[in-house]
Amino acid sequence: MEIRKDIELKEGTVAQTGHYRNFPMVPRVVFGTGSFDQLGDILMPKRKSADSPCIFLVDDVFEGSPLIGRIPLIFNDQIIFISADEEPKTVQVDALVERIKHDFSELPSGIIGIGGGTLLDLAKAVALMLTNKGSSSEYQGWDLVQRPSIYHVGVPTISGTGAEVSRTTVLLGPDKKLGINSDHTIFDQVVLDPDLAAGVDRKQWFYTGMDCYIHCVESLSGTYLNAFSQSYGEKAMELCKEVYLENLSPSKSREKLMMASWHGGMSIAYSQVGVAHAMSYGLSYLLGVRHGIGNCLVFQHLKEFYPEGVALFHKMKNKHQIELPTGICSSLTDSDFDAMVKVSLSMEPLWENALGKDWRKIATPKKVKAIYKLI
Ligand code: NAD
Ligand code: ZN
Repeated sequence: MEIRKDIELKEGTVAQTGHYRNFPMVPRVVFGTGSFDQLGDILMPKRKSADSPCIFLVDDVFEGSPLIGRIPLIFNDQIIFISADEEPKTVQVDALVERIKHDFSELPSGIIGIGGGTLLDLAKAVALMLTNKGSSSEYQGWDLVQRPSIYHVGVPTISGTGAEVSRTTVLLGPDKKLGINSDHTIFDQVVLDPDLAAGVDRKQWFYTGMDCYIHCVESLSGTYLNAFSQSYGEKAMELCKEVYLENLSPSKSREKLMMASWHGGMSIAYSQVGVAHAMSYGLSYLLGVRHGIGNCLVFQHLKEFYPEGVALFHKMKNKHQIELPTGICSSLTDSDFDAMVKVSLSMEPLWENALGKDWRKIATPKKVKAIYKLI
């Protein structure tokens, strides 16, 4: 079933065939407060000609903000504002590619995504589809992309998903939600400027940051853990604890969460996520619940699987006075629950990572349904 493959390696990829994957990593990264102002210098050598623009895909939450004045526009560069209210879609990617091809006589010199996971994923997908034929929906899967993308840069403005380091772009297609996983997906350059996250509201900061925390818990307690993943996961976990349990200054907190997201993403790249992600996907599939909050909604009830991780989660939640919404599943029918359970249990590697080869004996449909009923 398509959905299974989708989630299977949505956020991580592990050697499951006795063959070790050869991963690309982001080749260039700049980190530091104010580093966004170096973007002009970074882009300059990548500019092919005055007719080949840089296209900036920017979260529309920044429209009219001072950040826009700092975008290094020259020649016929363009800013396209995009709402992050909905998850990125293949039709949206295709329309953006059409628009860019229509507006310019030459292919762009670069695509720069400025925003959270939503904008980062869109930038990756548009960069890929400017050089590959057909619709982006034809490339949802693993290593289907034939041609290198155009140069693309990720500038995260909220921390947690690890989308800045991953080799996937998760898209909602006409008949499936599935990432374009490929070596060409990975950013050529990432700009980590912690100050860009200064305006994130408290709840969103918690939900997206907890995505990172949950990556760490799921990676570190998983059966797929290896020294590569562990080294990144432990560092990310330590940083999450500092950010969410200590009293850091806002700027220190932003810096550390940005690095936590990076390390958390690197950790799952070579292992896998677990129960919260498997079940959160069911919520997203049926109810359109967004990734960060969906993970929190599930994770709070996973004491049986992650006792220490869940206890710490509650401590963090209480410290920051976060009230998670309740009654999300209260009006669902039995067939709705069955659909969510089916989608969730179809993500076999996530369950196997969490619970081992005999995971089916523990994660029965009845048990998974009972957890959904608590949400
Ligand atoms: P997001 O991009 O969906 O943004 C969440 C909210 O925060 C939006 O309202 C946005 O406008 C706002 N926001 C972002 N930066 C802000 C700022 N500096 N100030 C004020 N508001 C700001 O958030 P996310 O949680 O980072 O991303 C979720 C998306 O990432 C999902 O679509 C998910 O599928 C995807 N994802 C991708 C990967 C990957 O590896 N490619 C991994 C995990 C999640
Ligand atoms: Zn995640």
